Amino acid sequence: MNDDLTNTDVINTAEAILPERRLERLRTVVDAGMARSFSWRKTQLDGLLRFVEDHQTAMLEALKADLGRCPTEARLVDVTMVCAEIQRMRRHLRKWLRPRFVHTPLAAQPGKSWIEQEPFGLALILGTWNYPFQQILLPLAGALAAGNAAVVKLSEVAPRAAALMAAHLEHYVDPEAVIVITGGPETASQLLEFRFDKIFFSGQSRVGRIVMAAAAAHLTPVTLELGGKNPALLAPDCPLEVAARRIAWGRFMNAGQLCVAPDYVLAPEPLRLPLIAALQRAIKRFYGPDPQRSDSFARIVNQRHFQRLLALMHDGRIAVGGQSDPADLYIAPTVLTDLPGHAAVLEEEIFGPILPVVGYAEIEDALAFVRQRPKPLALYLFTRNRRLQQQVIRGTSSGSVVVNDVLVNQIVPGLPFGGVGSSGMGAFHGRYTLDAFSHAKAVVRRSFRADIDARYPPFSEMKDQLLTWLISR
Ligand code: NAD
Repeated sequence: MNDDLTNTDVINTAEAILPERRLERLRTVVDAGMARSFSWRKTQLDGLLRFVEDHQTAMLEALKADLGRCPTEARLVDVTMVCAEIQRMRRHLRKWLRPRFVHTPLAAQPGKSWIEQEPFGLALILGTWNYPFQQILLPLAGALAAGNAAVVKLSEVAPRAAALMAAHLEHYVDPEAVIVITGGPETASQLLEFRFDKIFFSGQSRVGRIVMAAAAAHLTPVTLELGGKNPALLAPDCPLEVAARRIAWGRFMNAGQLCVAPDYVLAPEPLRLPLIAALQRAIKRFYGPDPQRSDSFARIVNQRHFQRLLALMHDGRIAVGGQSDPADLYIAPTVLTDLPGHAAVLEEEIFGPILPVVGYAEIEDALAFVRQRPKPLALYLFTRNRRLQQQVIRGTSSGSVVVNDVLVNQIVPGLPFGGVGSSGMGAFHGRYTLDAFSHAKAVVRRSFRADIDARYPPFSEMKDQLLTWLISR
């Protein structure tokens, strides 16, 4: 949506200069080992909530300008979900930060053992453009609640959202602990040369590899929230109408530009055409006869992605949609079918409003199709068959599985959100965000009493037996 406004209009990427002195100062403060109090942490979370409260309207306007996103979708993901997560973190913070006591064997008695949540120190958060507020504010909340300082690099691809956060975010948190930086890949590369204690990256798997390689130079731990191809697998018993509605909702939300969107559908061959008809009905019901005129359908973020998506429509047959308008960065909700096995649309993450539908003969063929590809961020299965549900949950690997729906795992507060294999490593959401920014430090406190002689040389068989017994109790 922002091609009339080049990135350089809002953020001068070429001139984006790293605030090196501030960065070094932040590093010095962190290295000096200043412990962050509980009230400091809560104050930062309050600040983030106030940022959202004060700038809600501007946030929705930025999302409209950058992505043509309708207010309902924008509010749901970048405002409501963000506030709910931060409020929950605030509510449970004391409990989540409490030391977790574990059993101490007799050999270390009298004594106590526990796990302490230690902040890593200085965190780097690299954000994406598709949910530009959520993908920054949630990790930042976790970083600060865990007691870290943080450097945040916003995505240059959503320039209005970035400009809003760059102008205001630091005023709502401790400016001695947070630096917000704008700029593109060059800025990210410069930042990655610096020593951080934790890197939290959301973005493409390709860039995730670059980030991880850079982190290796400093042995910095990483959380990688990446993308991939999320299958929606329909079984023969699946009620088509509701499955089609849910899949179309998840695929065409934000014009398909979300990491957890169902990326392709595997349907039993006899159901392939009825499913396409049901998808067509769902699309018409959501966006009317001309989705370009619908207020609820978003636009492609820029010309580069627009052209990339058009190229993906060259293979196979367009069964639904297919229309596009470069001036408006509009691509209609599109369903493709009759695809050759090597089609690019079945290989690379689509990240747009295109849904390939592939028929299969036996469920084993469908599972093999999934297993032959890199591990997805999410797998969606539609069936009432409990045995098949177990077979798919246990017999495939993915960041998450949702049975009979899409996306809803994200709103379940107790669940971790993250990928596996090429869809990412580590997780966030809820207390997992806190864990992502904390080192689980093992602590044992012994008494000076009971200094058992058996552990000291010279050893004997009796000492050996006693030690074995003490360690196992
Ligand atoms: P991206 O990888 O292009 O960019 C992400 C960040 O990395 C940006 O800040 C960008 O400036 C920086 N960057 C880009 N190229 C770089 C390079 N060569 N060296 C160093 N830094 C570089 O990703 P994107 O296009 O902004 O986002 C879309 C991708 O993100 C999709 O693959 C999507 O699935 C994924 N995503 C994942 C999650 C998740 O939680 N798993 C959430 C949102 C998006």
